Amino acid sequence: MSRKHIVAGNWKMNNNLAETQALITDLKSKENTGDAEVIIAPTSINLHAAVEALKGSTIQVAAQNMHQAESGAYTGEVSAGMLKSIGLETVILGHSERRAYFHESDELLAQKVNTALQHGLRVIFCFGEELEDRKNGKHFEVVSSQLKNALFHLSATQWSQIVLAYEPVWAIGTGETASPEQAQEMHAFIRTTVVDSYDETTASNVTILYGGSVKPANAKEIFSKPDVDGGLIGGASLKATDFFEIVNAF
Ligand code: PEP
Repeated sequence: MSRKHIVAGNWKMNNNLAETQALITDLKSKENTGDAEVIIAPTSINLHAAVEALKGSTIQVAAQNMHQAESGAYTGEVSAGMLKSIGLETVILGHSERRAYFHESDELLAQKVNTALQHGLRVIFCFGEELEDRKNGKHFEVVSSQLKNALFHLSATQWSQIVLAYEPVWAIGTGETASPEQAQEMHAFIRTTVVDSYDETTASNVTILYGGSVKPANAKEIFSKPDVDGGLIGGASLKATDFFEIVNAF
């Protein structure tokens, strides 16, 4: 098994340029005492400044989104090539806010994943069920169809560029967290789903992050589960101390 631990901070639409630089200065003063790879995802206008500010640091920078086309008349959008040109290696795709507010479907996300991989970007692919799905006992079905529709056309080799982020929508920004047992149960299911469509090696090598109200107080317990390989952190990634307490939960 060669999968990595990763803790990634999704800053969403927070922090202007000065705030981005200040938070990065704070982050750089913290010590990573564990073995997790650390990633931050500022908003697109501040990505270049973040890359510059983190030169020489092990903290990596990811984008929160990108367009599926190579270039062209897509006002307001950012391409994979542009992300690569400023030194990025990772992009978050499929966040539930992109799905809900910008109507991103599994089919569109499959195209975005393809474009990202063609450009050599690693993808942190987000997915997860809504509260209604869980209440109706449909959470496994929903998650498995999200994965199949957006990712299962890829070759086993391409999976080395995929990080999965299971984020139950009902736990994002709500203060409500899936219990460590619920997270483990779903992560184990996800791994089995990958085994069924690929093979044991692909499944055991893929890093599966949990996201949804992870905080310093609950990170250790969630990360102690065998199939939870890290976290995608929203609110708690905006404070350097909290974020590094989570990073150091590994
Ligand atoms: C997220 O948006 O990916 C997320 C997990 O947010 P929060 O940690 O604030 O729930």
